[in-house]
Amino acid sequence: MIFNIQRYSTHDGEGIRTLIFFKGCTLHCQWCSNPEGIPFGPTLLYDERLCKDLGECLSVAAPSIQRNDDGHGIRIDRNSIKHPEILRDVCPAKALTVVGEEIGVEELLEEIEKDRRFYRDNGGVTLSGGEPLAQSDFLVPLLQELKKRGIPADVETSLHVEWKSIAAVKEWVDTFLVDLKHTDAGKFRTYTGGDVRLVMENLKKLVEGGARVIIRVPVIPGFNHSQREMIGIIDHAHALGIEEIHFLPYHTLGMEKYRMMGREYLYGQYRSLRDEDVHSYIEYAQSKGLRTKTGG
Ligand code: SF4
Repeated sequence: MIFNIQRYSTHDGEGIRTLIFFKGCTLHCQWCSNPEGIPFGPTLLYDERLCKDLGECLSVAAPSIQRNDDGHGIRIDRNSIKHPEILRDVCPAKALTVVGEEIGVEELLEEIEKDRRFYRDNGGVTLSGGEPLAQSDFLVPLLQELKKRGIPADVETSLHVEWKSIAAVKEWVDTFLVDLKHTDAGKFRTYTGGDVRLVMENLKKLVEGGARVIIRVPVIPGFNHSQREMIGIIDHAHALGIEEIHFLPYHTLGMEKYRMMGREYLYGQYRSLRDEDVHSYIEYAQSKGLRTKTGG
């Protein structure tokens, strides 16, 4: 299942790229800018600003959906909606939308082929998410076919998956863009719900196996935005023999989506970071001989 195809992207890999966002993630980072990509199934979004009180959703999903007491807008009991798909295309005003759709390998390849002429020498496809490697059964035939057609494919991943999911695809991946968020197990667990040791083990195996790896560090206030924590991450990457590291300054662009999912956004007190906020990390990484970049 995927939840977005973004065309002509110049981030997330070299050149002009088609980004495919796979639905479902094995982590739930508190700052995630694509929270609609975290659940593995379809996700219901409600944008009250677009609601025109047409009532179509009530006829499909009451009593799980009810009109607000003042007559404007709706309230949703999300836990009682077991199959959000029933609400796909129900709202003429697009206030209610369902994110996530099943797609076959062939159909996805057709979408990718539409962009092929833009790839030129160094562009291609980047598989992102969510966590694309959580769907490695789907990725294997897709990546094999991309390789056969001469279309480069990168994978953007947290590596928070079983090794066998990585081993299954690594032969057909040009570059792994690996999120390395922290080196401290406790902090990683608290803020992402995951096990950093799994990430570290997988990263080590991947690098030792000769895969091309670029480390990407989301710089997140209150989580890892300090000289001490960033030095720990950079030193770890350097010790592994990684040659390139990107710093992704925190931004608040995903904030609105939390409201549309009926979720609280825990990072509301932080402002977006600017490039200069990560400058000292860039300097330190360069002093270790790493190639650097700010942004994807
Ligand atoms: S790993 Fe990425 S997609 Fe998954 S929750 Fe964290 S930020 Fe979101």
